[in-house]
Amino acid sequence: MQYPAPIAKLIESYMKLPGIGAKTAARLAFYTIEMNEDDVTTFAKSLISVKRDLHYCSICGNITEEDPCEICADNTRDKSVILVVEETKDVMALEKMREYQGLYHVLHGVLSPMDGTGPDDINIASLINRLHDAKVKEVIIATNATTEGEATAMYLSRLIKPAGIKVTRLAHGLSVGSDIEYADEVTLLKAVEGRREL
Ligand SMILES: [Zn+2]
Repeated sequence: MQYPAPIAKLIESYMKLPGIGAKTAARLAFYTIEMNEDDVTTFAKSLISVKRDLHYCSICGNITEEDPCEICADNTRDKSVILVVEETKDVMALEKMREYQGLYHVLHGVLSPMDGTGPDDINIASLINRLHDAKVKEVIIATNATTEGEATAMYLSRLIKPAGIKVTRLAHGLSVGSDIEYADEVTLLKAVEGRREL
């Protein structure tokens, strides 16, 4: 027996999410059928809204409703420091510790020759553009402590240092291979405070 088309379609959609296989997708689809109509409508609307109402900040690449984003637009923030992260969720993690007052730049990935991701495939060009602003004195590279994260940090360091801007890397209170988004606030704070020059 085949699934009725609406269920088959929903299963197909759930299977596009990371870590969801056919079995889990089917379970979620059947669960959705049992949900009350209001909850399903809210769910569907929020799916559409995250695509329609959110954009990338034209300055830092952060996900935002307004352009520039809240952080770039905030005049109380220290515009002399830019902290470079892989993903928007890293910005959220770092903002949670409420200590860092500088700006951010989101790369949306890391360099990965194995996957064919080169400098033009991630948000590097706009970072280099931002460095023309004489206010920028330091770039803190907070890519994850993976092989790709380290290679990206080295690449950026070689690119930025000739401009006479200090380049630092987060201290490895973060264990090797660990992701910023999973680090607790104390660990993150220590990693920022203990950053070393590249
Ligand atoms: Zn921004």
